[in-house]
Amino acid sequence: MPRVNISVKLDGVLETDVKRWRAICSIGLAFAIPCESLYGEWFSDSQPIMGTNIHVEFWHEDPAAARDALAAVIDEMHRIDELMSPFRESSELSAINRGAGAGPVAVSAELLALLERSAEVSRMTDGAFDITYASAGRFYDYRKGVRPDEAQLTAAVQAIDYRYVQIDREAGTVRFAHPEVYVDLGGIAKGHAVDRGIELLRARGIDQAMIAAGGDSRIIGDRRGQPWTVGVQDPRKSGTMAVLLPLEDTAVSTSGDYERFFERDGVRYHHIIDPSTGDSAREVRSVTILGPEATLTDALSTSVFVLGVRAGLTLIDSLDGIDAIIIDGDGRLHYSRDLLQVEP
Ligand code: ADP
Ligand code: MG
Repeated sequence: MPRVNISVKLDGVLETDVKRWRAICSIGLAFAIPCESLYGEWFSDSQPIMGTNIHVEFWHEDPAAARDALAAVIDEMHRIDELMSPFRESSELSAINRGAGAGPVAVSAELLALLERSAEVSRMTDGAFDITYASAGRFYDYRKGVRPDEAQLTAAVQAIDYRYVQIDREAGTVRFAHPEVYVDLGGIAKGHAVDRGIELLRARGIDQAMIAAGGDSRIIGDRRGQPWTVGVQDPRKSGTMAVLLPLEDTAVSTSGDYERFFERDGVRYHHIIDPSTGDSAREVRSVTILGPEATLTDALSTSVFVLGVRAGLTLIDSLDGIDAIIIDGDGRLHYSRDLLQVEP
């Protein structure tokens, strides 16, 4: 389920909008005005894809073209899932994990570009973002409450280092410089999928839309003159919002320790891993990042979760056009510099 409770909130707004539109239309019909071409309509779809809920919503004047656009976005999400899922034997990601420890594996330009983007974020965050976290991360099963034992963890941590992923752009291949490396794009692939979906909508002339993949969303335009509202969930009160964000033309991602976790001896084991230890990062409870595109906000929300409040805000304050809201281990809110300037 989404950490940012977008679908629940926006469904409420959507209903009122549709009612209003129907009221206008019935008046319109009385005067024989073609409502659809004049007013348009909200279209939406939600599907379970990429292990999360994908929600697409936009304003369109032509129902047939709108249905076509919805289907195109959903198809795109399935395509990316098939390419990048660590759970599908047939995915390109699985092919890398099977073969790149032994030698170069050929991959598509799209996956290669996302691997390069991941490396860029790793360099930017001093390795807090590291897709080779999965060398240790693969030994956890949050649903079953399974974690690696000490010996397993010590060995696995040796295989965590983003520099082990060697990309040959000319040859279109990737190889691992350590035989035990395992990669997972769970910290960036949903953001990439959201950006791809938004590109598809834009190419169809749609300029008021929202796509959410779990906690990664991107909005284009406004909601017929009003901002969209995205909520940041209270990490310890399910269904309660800690912050409501009125947004336009923004990507927003939240990473939280309440999504996938289990507790053992009072310790919370969750799905965001500190690459230096192979264990869950525990300084903060949630991180929300705002920025121009979802690939980056997705990767940075995971990164800042690992970095914690001080190092995280220092990083975000050094980046143009990127903002952060962090909820720390005591439930206190911390804002990046630019947000503080607009906060009361
Ligand atoms: P989700 O939307 O899946 O909850 P997040 O953006 O919060 O994702 O990132 C968590 C996911 O990122 C994990 O499920 C895992 O796949 C991946 N991940 C965990 N730790 C790291 C890390 N240090 N660097 C890169 N990716 C990570
Ligand atoms: Mg993320």
